Amino acid sequence: MQHHIQLRNVGKHYTDTSILRDVNLAVAPGEFCVFIGPSGCGKSTLLRLLAGLDDVSQGEIEINGRIVNHLPPAQRNVAMVFQSYALYPHMSVFENMAFGLRHQKLPKAEINQRVAEAAKVLKLDVDDLLKRKPRDLSGGQRQRVAIGRAIVRKPEVFLFDEPLSNLDAALRVETRVEIARLHRELGSASMIYVTHDQVEAMTLADKIVLLRPQSDKYKGPSIAQVGHPLALYHRPANRFVAGFIGSPSMNFLAGTVSSIGPQGVQVQVGGVSCTAAVEPQGLSNGMPVTVGIRPEHMQLGEGPFNAVVSHLEHLGEHSYVYLKTDDHAKALLAKTQHGHTELRIGDRVPFSLPTAELHVFREDGLAQTRRLSNPNRMAA
Ligand code: ADP
Repeated sequence: MQHHIQLRNVGKHYTDTSILRDVNLAVAPGEFCVFIGPSGCGKSTLLRLLAGLDDVSQGEIEINGRIVNHLPPAQRNVAMVFQSYALYPHMSVFENMAFGLRHQKLPKAEINQRVAEAAKVLKLDVDDLLKRKPRDLSGGQRQRVAIGRAIVRKPEVFLFDEPLSNLDAALRVETRVEIARLHRELGSASMIYVTHDQVEAMTLADKIVLLRPQSDKYKGPSIAQVGHPLALYHRPANRFVAGFIGSPSMNFLAGTVSSIGPQGVQVQVGGVSCTAAVEPQGLSNGMPVTVGIRPEHMQLGEGPFNAVVSHLEHLGEHSYVYLKTDDHAKALLAKTQHGHTELRIGDRVPFSLPTAELHVFREDGLAQTRRLSNPNRMAA
């Protein structure tokens, strides 16, 4: 497959601080690619490198067959939509959308047509809204104008930097759905979208790029995993990904491999033997490991483990049950499948860790791949 965007060994550092390291990534035409990761991991920096607003320290950026490292932003055929909208306050909506095209000296008729087309795609009322100034628009409308200004340029690549961050919760959901629709309608244009919001990442992305911050402890490739959202959820490549993707976060418990057989890998966790349906390669008897279980996969009510309920949160459609294991060594969180629970703070509750949902991480943080016992998972 021909790739629209290729990043090869891209790195960015400021004097002695490394921000991005060994970034290798391919984005296909029309793909919706979301950069996500903890604050400060370099998401916006990577977007700015693509836009040409910053220079790479290392490596190569290729867009549609051209190395663009030394091309200024205007020659990269990319359009960026900022969190702050960055509209010109003294210009009408029409002028804001037309500004870049006038700069390119396009004929007036062409400009009018492109603005009208973009307004239609964004469902902006041409007669009314286009005459107004940005201050007379709602936040959601302003963000549409900012997106419209990108659309009229007919770029090969759209770059979105947390475009929904300044909108209230209801409008965020609405605009998220709009952006997904826009992506379908715009066909071959690739979209690169930075967010710190997991729901945005999971719902919009064809491909998630999870970035890991450089630190004193971690000096390695910035990309922790690239893949379909469900692949990152079901088959995280390492402990960092497992802990980041999914909300609330995965629970982690210390364990020791006790046997390896055709049924899976047996792990001793707090004196209890659990089976995990994971590939055994790279594991051996007696090896210390970390097991992971998501709050939504904890099975409360029966099982070989016991814990005491330390706190409860009822969210209506489900409840969060905070647990302390008997030896008080570990706090765990369980998410119930429904909103009502008979449990009270102080109750003792048995629980189990289901084989098919158990993750196993080696000491180096790498995950064992889970066997695909459920064929529906193949799609992920
Ligand atoms: P994110 O978007 O993931 O929150 P950023 O890309 O904004 O992260 O920033 C990544 C890191 O780079 C941060 O630690 C930030 O302080 C640092 N950084 C950004 N710009 C500069 C700069 N001009 N000089 C030095 N450090 C910078």
